[in-house]
Amino acid sequence: MLRTSLLVVILMIWMLAPIGCMRQVTPASPAAPVSEPTKPGFDVAGMDTNVSAADDFYHYAVGTWIKENPVPDDQKRWSAFNILREQTRENVKTTILKAADITDAPKDSIPYKVGTFYQVGMDEEKIQADGFTPIKGELSRIEAIQDLAGFHRELAHMTLHTSAPLFYLYVAPDEKNATMNIAAVYQGGIGLPDRDYYVEEDDRSKEIRTAYVAHVARMMELIGSDQKTAQKEAETVMAIETRLAAASNTRVENRNPKARYNKMTIEDLKARTPDFDWQAFFAELGVTDPGGININQPRFIEEIGKMVKEVSLAGWKTYLKWTVLRSMAPTLSDAFVNEHFAFNDKFMNGQAEIKPRWKRVVDMTNRSLGEAVGQLYVADYFPPEAKDRAMEIVANLLIAMGERIDALDWMSNATKAKAKEKLSAIDVKMGYPDKWKDLTELEVKEDSYAANVMRANHFDLMDDLKDVNKPVDKAEWYMTPQTVNAGYSPSRNDMTFPAGILQFPFFDKDVDDAINYGAMGAVIGHEITHGFDDQGRQYDKDGNLEDWWTPEDEAKFKEKTKALVAQYNAYAPFEGFHVNGEMTLGENIADLGGLLVAYQALTKTEQFKTGTAIDGFTPSQRFFLSWAQVWKTNIRDDALKTMIKIDVHSPARYRVRGPLANINAFFEAFEIKPGDPMHKKEEEVVRIW
Ligand SMILES: [Zn+2]
Repeated sequence: MLRTSLLVVILMIWMLAPIGCMRQVTPASPAAPVSEPTKPGFDVAGMDTNVSAADDFYHYAVGTWIKENPVPDDQKRWSAFNILREQTRENVKTTILKAADITDAPKDSIPYKVGTFYQVGMDEEKIQADGFTPIKGELSRIEAIQDLAGFHRELAHMTLHTSAPLFYLYVAPDEKNATMNIAAVYQGGIGLPDRDYYVEEDDRSKEIRTAYVAHVARMMELIGSDQKTAQKEAETVMAIETRLAAASNTRVENRNPKARYNKMTIEDLKARTPDFDWQAFFAELGVTDPGGININQPRFIEEIGKMVKEVSLAGWKTYLKWTVLRSMAPTLSDAFVNEHFAFNDKFMNGQAEIKPRWKRVVDMTNRSLGEAVGQLYVADYFPPEAKDRAMEIVANLLIAMGERIDALDWMSNATKAKAKEKLSAIDVKMGYPDKWKDLTELEVKEDSYAANVMRANHFDLMDDLKDVNKPVDKAEWYMTPQTVNAGYSPSRNDMTFPAGILQFPFFDKDVDDAINYGAMGAVIGHEITHGFDDQGRQYDKDGNLEDWWTPEDEAKFKEKTKALVAQYNAYAPFEGFHVNGEMTLGENIADLGGLLVAYQALTKTEQFKTGTAIDGFTPSQRFFLSWAQVWKTNIRDDALKTMIKIDVHSPARYRVRGPLANINAFFEAFEIKPGDPMHKKEEEVVRIW
């Protein structure tokens, strides 16, 4: 699971999950949206034709839907994604309940594991009565630490079971020898969603710091500290996390894969961080010889090396206890769940109400037992025909991308040839894995919800660690089939379209091509383009960090991306809250490239050639309206502020406005003229792929 969140570029943010290092998809709610069509097709009723397409295409395309579909109380945002995720969660729940109903399922079977995990999570009475008993063993282990040797052992134990303190450990392809897996370390250890919140002096950052310290203190009181002690403990946590944050890279700094590639042996690490006992840490994980480890942020690791002795053992114990608490709170009694919600969802994102328990437990089952649930889900909900139709669109998109590369007026033939080699090497994962993970070792018991979550964490990391220094398995999936998202992995040069996204409004095997190409087609084009964005272009066809560009072409690419950065920097949903054009660059390149490639593929379809209008719209118009429909979104102000800080994707409205303002076919389709707000002069237009 972890390798997904750090290394794969995905279509849509995965919100930070409450559990350790894993991440979840943005969840959704049951309320039926007013203007959602009952059968697939374009939602004409959701348009607002009082607004001119030339003034504000986004509101023209989805304005009525936006007016009629406020964010439900238990959501941070409400969008086509959320609605689909809500439907998918309902389906997953049905699948889980079916598994739970099999009373004679053997204890090592997948239905038993899935059904029991869910039922134990739904046993509200027992969870209430247990309070924080299920994590008392974890807290006592920390209390019992006697020395730094014990501290290092505990770091490893927590990394395996609850949440990774200080840094994330994961296994992924060696980016300079991408056929082999290696262990890797990534900065972490902070409870706020970004390092900037600890170090910046703007009002919102200060307000967040104050609220965070109060939140940590309240959690400490819940496990028995008196008010004064809890306050002191919260300040200790804040001091440690602030040091970690100050030594962490910004999200923009982390967009440089070459700077993130620093392969080191245990000996190298010993020389850099003499006080950090890497040997003991890996030994506790059962890895006696990790070989070369990729240290993504060496400066961060050096700071930890200094902190080991500079922070007192008592200080470390407080910090470790907090780390267990913040990751495990959602699995404990209401006092913990509510405090966790109040800070992370309500304060940081404006969510009014917590989701009902069943939704939270389905999400946790999905995260903890992802492939187990996925196997049962696809059997119930994924029509095999969908896979063939989607593969056909992928094939057409790959052809269109090849043609666009050939036609680029700014790239030399030498670089074009390499780009096309890379394009034809892209691997496609569609629907669900051909080969499922072996889940034999994954244990689920009836003792407690928290214990099951810890066992699932343990299984996941152990399962990854057994691949260290082993060849990369190209068939392995890094997303679950029930995920409503898509991804591209630069070091594997593959893209993944799980069953979850092969549903309307992204895709429907029965709707017209213009709608499918404007949604799923553009999504596929988006993922293809990730292989050629600011980060992806630095990897070759085999997933190795290897220069294949001529210096002149590289310079031209950078010039073009600079202009795109400037375009997005100018977008600001609130005064003082601008989109970060550099942080979102890869996604913006992918949105623009994805639409251009998908449009080119559309022009070859029968529908486009005949030009037949449906619902009064030409194929071209339906294509762009379909893209807008995918991104129709209402989002709470606080959630939008947080998103602008932490999400590498631009807010939905700019994922429509941003790319379309650079596409001539869009200007033609809606007769957008020079001087119109949606228009850009030819010299301002950016086109990369
Ligand atoms: Zn993306």
